[in-house]
Amino acid sequence: MRKLFNSISHDVLIKDFYNKIVDKRDRRFLLYAGLEFNDEVLAILPGVSIEEVLLSNFEKLLEINEKIENDYIQVIIKEKVKALYQTEETYIDSYFDNRINNKIIISKTTDEKLKKLINSEINKELCGVFKNMGTILYENNTIHSVISKFFIEKSNELKIKSCYYCNIDFINVYKEAGSKKYHFTLDHVLPKSKYPYFSISLFNLVPSCYTCNSKLKLANEFSINNDLAKICPSSKGFNFDENTMFTLEFNVKDPDFKNKIEKVHQIEDVIIDLKNKYSNNGVKEFIDTFDLQGRYEYHKNICFDLIDKRKKYPDKEISNIAKLIKRDILTVKKDIFSAEIFESTNAPFEKYKQDIAEQLGII
Ligand SMILES: [Zn+2]
Repeated sequence: MRKLFNSISHDVLIKDFYNKIVDKRDRRFLLYAGLEFNDEVLAILPGVSIEEVLLSNFEKLLEINEKIENDYIQVIIKEKVKALYQTEETYIDSYFDNRINNKIIISKTTDEKLKKLINSEINKELCGVFKNMGTILYENNTIHSVISKFFIEKSNELKIKSCYYCNIDFINVYKEAGSKKYHFTLDHVLPKSKYPYFSISLFNLVPSCYTCNSKLKLANEFSINNDLAKICPSSKGFNFDENTMFTLEFNVKDPDFKNKIEKVHQIEDVIIDLKNKYSNNGVKEFIDTFDLQGRYEYHKNICFDLIDKRKKYPDKEISNIAKLIKRDILTVKKDIFSAEIFESTNAPFEKYKQDIAEQLGII
């Protein structure tokens, strides 16, 4: 699982994103709201500008978020909504507690119609964390297409090839009738339903496949805690690969690894386990959210093929072939076992193949 924005200097990226957003053609969303880019985000957060919310790195976004949540949402918005619906204090308290603790909202005493009304009032207030910007985030889609275009244009530099969450599905940009089309979704790491003010922040966006974004993560959002920076692909601290390993186990009895491999004859003889090496809670959450264990289990044939090829091509055989065709060993290995095992390009199943290849002594 690759770190996003790793292949490009952050300064260059931010400058380009900034230019794209304030580009004359695409300034509509700012002009519409009568905003300037360096406007401060309400008086509650002196010193935080729109520019900062849009361009700060993920770690900084978490800091800003804590401030918005503790100083503004949990105090001012909560009191405002309570004053509007005085009889619904219990429900409103539990709603705001839920924002922090992910606890289930108590709703026994509140009828569904009223609940909807309160929720929509809160949502309107959340969108309004930016001065005048609520309308834009709430109603206008212009800016989202500008952002998609930005990712399409940067697809080569960013090496957008496979989903940044699962590394299983292709997410590609392709040409159709001369114009660039794309086949990926942009996931909001901090979900836009709960944090609409980060819905157009560059580092809150992760190109991902439909399964990860719309089917799996939608139902299970990440917990906001110290582990989040480690499992968010757009953060500097992302280190999922170092924290995990696909390990190979066998349903065959033999204490020796090499003998075990020889005894593997059918796909059922192989067991794949995605190990959380340091039992990190964030890593566990990532694996569970995207159902990685189950989804990789389904692709066991890739691993079985590697084992099969390794049995046919032990090191001695590879060096014989290399001598015979007068090529170096690495080239021969790439031809036999596939190139992405030896060079990272964000191709699907890259980490999976690399981890297994290491255990089979191919790398
Ligand atoms: Zn995915």
